[in-house]
Amino acid sequence: MASESEILQSVPTALWIGGPVEATGGATFPVHDPATGEVLTRVADASPEDAMRALDAAVAAQESWAATPARERGEILRAVFESITARAEEFALLMTLEMGKALPESRNEVRYGAEFFRWFSEEAVRVHGRYLHAPSGTGRIVVHKQPVGPCLAITPWNFPLAMGTRKIGPALAAGCTMIVKPASETPLTMLLLAELCSRAGLPDGVLSVITTSRSGAVTGPLIDDPRLRKLTFTGSTEVGKRLVASSANRLLRTSMELGGNAPFVVFDDADVDAAVQGAMLAKLRNGGEACTAANRFHVQRGVLEEFTAKLVTAMSDSVTLGPGTDPSTTLGPLINEDQLNTVSELVEDAVSAGATVRLGGKAPGGPGWFYPATILSDVPPNARIRTEEVFGPVAPVIGFDTEEEGLAAANDTRYGLVSYVYTRDLDRALRVAEGLESGMVGVNRGVISDPAAPFGGVKESGFGREGGSEGIEEYLSTKYIALT
Ligand code: NAP
Repeated sequence: MASESEILQSVPTALWIGGPVEATGGATFPVHDPATGEVLTRVADASPEDAMRALDAAVAAQESWAATPARERGEILRAVFESITARAEEFALLMTLEMGKALPESRNEVRYGAEFFRWFSEEAVRVHGRYLHAPSGTGRIVVHKQPVGPCLAITPWNFPLAMGTRKIGPALAAGCTMIVKPASETPLTMLLLAELCSRAGLPDGVLSVITTSRSGAVTGPLIDDPRLRKLTFTGSTEVGKRLVASSANRLLRTSMELGGNAPFVVFDDADVDAAVQGAMLAKLRNGGEACTAANRFHVQRGVLEEFTAKLVTAMSDSVTLGPGTDPSTTLGPLINEDQLNTVSELVEDAVSAGATVRLGGKAPGGPGWFYPATILSDVPPNARIRTEEVFGPVAPVIGFDTEEEGLAAANDTRYGLVSYVYTRDLDRALRVAEGLESGMVGVNRGVISDPAAPFGGVKESGFGREGGSEGIEEYLSTKYIALT
């Protein structure tokens, strides 16, 4: 396998618009290693004019890509799946370098991210319409699905590969071209993916990647351009709302995968050991920097102390904080200093409101943006961590008495992405799963993401679905053709 320096030397750093292209004036910006704070490399810093070149390329390629037989599109997607899989270690190391997560987490993401190409290579050939006689007997109805057209995807830093492939896979399968604007903290993974797609046979212009340090200024003109037909965004609720507002001008079609504040509800009748195992996954997957991360642990009082004590033991026994590239590390650094400050402030606020620190609770300092696995108990309702997304390895544990009270506490959030529930009672599991106000519910499971399932939220976690058979619908328009 290639070393860190070999990977950094070989990874593409130019914009990808039908191939590598320098940004206007040769502008670049730095990419940092969260484990050291040092600069890893520099990548092209796109201008609004560069973004327009990417849109020109997407528009030019749209017609022929849409006309390419679905089987051929599917085969290219399948070839991309094979090449990501063949180069999994390279992708994993690159992701760990630019994002910080521990290598096993990166390997998991490579598997998960690649799977969207395999899944949508299969879905590409299953886009169906309908043919029926009008019940009134006045004619025939043909329902026909067509690709929406050129799309813009804006993605976050926490899953540098998968948040892109979850959009690229279905868009390309549906016959759309796409421009991806990855997060400025983690542009390298997406640039490598673009190069690999091209080698796998994807025609020029079908997928472009524009990296930039001025995301608003560079994507704004694209959103205003009538040739762009769809915006798909994954990121914070704040930015999502701004993008929906700017898309409203042209009533641009949008999909929004936004923030979460997932409740993890444990009832007295749960298998507590299984709940602790699930909690470890729901909290620590991706170092807690996941929109699906459990943000609040609501535990019924009969098992509250047992669950908390076992979670403390599990985290202190199995979490090793360190650079993601170190083989013994299970918890890497946070993405940047801002994120470290946010996590530290949320913990300090909870403690000053009366919460008890049961584990961790203090950044070790030194180079890099490290924060330890942390457990807080007795977290009062006025602590900010109960309503704000922590996006780090911090688990606030909160007691409740009745099922109604637990459900109400779980739903007491403006977000609605995912919820977790642990109980051995099937009736209760179904009742609570139906009552939880979220797009997804894990029952006795701490990880729910699956390329074959529709991923997405309600309330301020957004709208639209990624994955499953629903995922491709986001990139299709429905046309009704009336016949005699
Ligand atoms: P973010 O600040 O909203 O950034 C996401 C993306 O939007 C980045 O590419 C960013 O570019 C870009 N961006 C920022 N401001 C913009 C603007 N004015 N116009 C156009 N683009 C803009 O979110 P983040 O901090 O990267 O990611 C964390 C958030 O994402 C969390 O809230 C998490 O829950 C959410 N998330 C949701 C899902 C889901 O599926 N629901 C999945 C993963 C993450 P720059 O990097 O240049 O700022």
